Amino acid sequence: MIPHPTEEQFLAGRTSADESREWVDSVEHEFEHAFATLNGLRSGVSVFGSARIAPDHPWYALGVEVGRRIAEAGYPVITGGGPGLMQAANRGAASVGGRSIGLAIELPREEEPNPYADTVVPFEHFFVRKTVFVRYSCAFVALPGGFGTLDELFEALTLIQTDKLHDFPVILVGTAFWGPVAEWLRTTLVDAGTISPHDLDLLTVTDDLDEMLRVIRACVECHTPPPGGVVPR
Ligand code: AMP
Repeated sequence: MIPHPTEEQFLAGRTSADESREWVDSVEHEFEHAFATLNGLRSGVSVFGSARIAPDHPWYALGVEVGRRIAEAGYPVITGGGPGLMQAANRGAASVGGRSIGLAIELPREEEPNPYADTVVPFEHFFVRKTVFVRYSCAFVALPGGFGTLDELFEALTLIQTDKLHDFPVILVGTAFWGPVAEWLRTTLVDAGTISPHDLDLLTVTDDLDEMLRVIRACVECHTPPPGGVVPR
């Protein structure tokens, strides 16, 4: 079998038509592998956050607590499987014996998935992985982060805004970090008319992990089907 072209080769426009088809096949295989591995997983909560925060940082302790509280409430914790705050959330979930899942991304610089995920799903394609986060989650929680975290956060907000995703709370934990971002969304973007005020209805900014759980529970309950009904996610 010819090895399929890498993401970098494809994105740089260096693939022939045949190689591009190989690349499409690799996308399909990646989805299939994720579906097979995560089959039956319900009501996961994805926790995003910086890959760069060390275990001695206060945000790391916050990440452990977030993972622990979500797992104790009975929800599988899903992260990017990497270091920093992803590791913290997986660690918190694992510390109480909860499901702890890592959707790991293959990056040009070699990196092992963090050791606190009981299930690691490998991905080469960021966009496939982002779809899988949404597909197996009922809520997103974002800890402080950089471009990666913002990308995952805005992916969900765009899907909500365009009615592709319903009853899906997005909770930003850490008011000192996220407050100014939320304020910018609520003032500059709403005032400029580039988003509507109700686009932010499902966005919560908090330091209170009880509130985080209340918001998650309220939304999961609205997904719960009548007896004999179909579980939507
Ligand atoms: P950032 O906020 O830029 O540090 O990126 C963190 C987010 O992007 C995480 O929630 C991950 O899903 C993804 N990400 C970025 N870097 C990594 C990495 N080294 N390993 C796994 N996921 C990563």
